[in-house]
Amino acid sequence: MRLLALATAIALTSGIAQAADSPAEAQALDIAKRAIAFRSVAGPGNQTPQLAAYLKTQLVAGGFKDEDVTITPVDDTAYLIARYPGKNAKAKPLVISGHIDVVEAKPADWQRDPFTAVVENGYLYGRGATDMKLDAAIVIAALVELKRQGFVPARDIILEFSGDEETAMKTSALIAEQLKNAELVINIDGGGGALDEKTGKPLYLTWQGAEKTYADFQLSVTNAGGHSSAPRKDNAIVQLSRALERIGAYQFTPELNDLTRGYFTSAAKYEDAATGAAMRAFAANPADKTAIATLTANPSMVGQIGTTCVATMVNGGHALNALPQRATANINCRIFPGHQPAAIMAELQKVAAEPAVRFKDVTEGAVPNDASPLRADFVTAVTKAMAPIYPGVPIFPGMSAGASDSMWFRYHHVPSYGASPVFIKGSDNFSHGLNERTPVANIAPALQYYRSLFTSLSK
Ligand SMILES: [Zn+2]
Repeated sequence: MRLLALATAIALTSGIAQAADSPAEAQALDIAKRAIAFRSVAGPGNQTPQLAAYLKTQLVAGGFKDEDVTITPVDDTAYLIARYPGKNAKAKPLVISGHIDVVEAKPADWQRDPFTAVVENGYLYGRGATDMKLDAAIVIAALVELKRQGFVPARDIILEFSGDEETAMKTSALIAEQLKNAELVINIDGGGGALDEKTGKPLYLTWQGAEKTYADFQLSVTNAGGHSSAPRKDNAIVQLSRALERIGAYQFTPELNDLTRGYFTSAAKYEDAATGAAMRAFAANPADKTAIATLTANPSMVGQIGTTCVATMVNGGHALNALPQRATANINCRIFPGHQPAAIMAELQKVAAEPAVRFKDVTEGAVPNDASPLRADFVTAVTKAMAPIYPGVPIFPGMSAGASDSMWFRYHHVPSYGASPVFIKGSDNFSHGLNERTPVANIAPALQYYRSLFTSLSK
């Protein structure tokens, strides 16, 4: 997944066009185009293992030892781990994290075949152009370039690509378990830059240091039911409805962490005046009632100020003329970093105040995770990597409402940072959607950025 912290949406086309003029640039574009052609989608015909095998050939041709690049099959997919040995094998490694599976794409709905890469008007088109085969290709080319230059890091650099980040995240969990001794993780599938909608110029870069924890709670009421001509007080649908009504009206206490404070403070100027003022006021005082009201009313901001829980599904009754024996609902929560799902569920149970409603955590494929600390070495390395390629462009932290592979590392208390340098307009971001595309002008600066970032952080 790829989520920019801010997303303005004015449709304009970009005129950026650039020819590949260095071997690394040419290689990155070539790998990206070939990678897009593999249908690495969960389900029948999943070509993720074949894509992993292809990427291994590129790494080995670029100087990685064959035995240092492993591909592990899991169900219909596979994951890849490649080791770039450092001087001290005992030092905790720098991990570069990405994924090579993509979300399904139905060719009939696309203007072009999603699995045939095309470069047109300065854009690379195809499923995975944004999320995240181009990023994977750029990082491979950057590492190969570092090898070519004879760079030897102090600590190992480990590149890993999960094979089901978009679906079950089984490989993501396995990789994080295997690499939980990492010093730090750079997730190339998080963060990113925003281009101005009108001018196409870089506006700002966000790096991602936290994600909300995903949780699903099932609420259920069951009873003996009966004939609808003889109603009773204990009606399962009515009891469940009362609980849902109270939960719907409830707001968790708004809160801040270092990352969101940095985000609100720095990003305020890119929003309209009222939203910007509320962001600044909230950063200064998270109990500011006016600021809370403004941010709560804004769907792109409400998730940034605290835990949110909403009813997403409901089901009840079995016949038109019978008292319901069962009524169930799902409450989907996006939990602010630092809270355990069990505590949030207990809070909801209190809010619902309906003893007949049973609560059950039915979350699948997600684990609780805290925010990564604002590590000075990481912030310095990003700032240094950005300076020559995008001088003066502001850099600020962010928290995603969605989940990425970083969740699995943060679960093991390994600091993980989404730090992609790929810039795109909000109106061009079609990851998971139709006609996915990314400006190819990103390749050259991104190669330079990654070489600098990896060099700084593997010292
Ligand atoms: Zn992704």
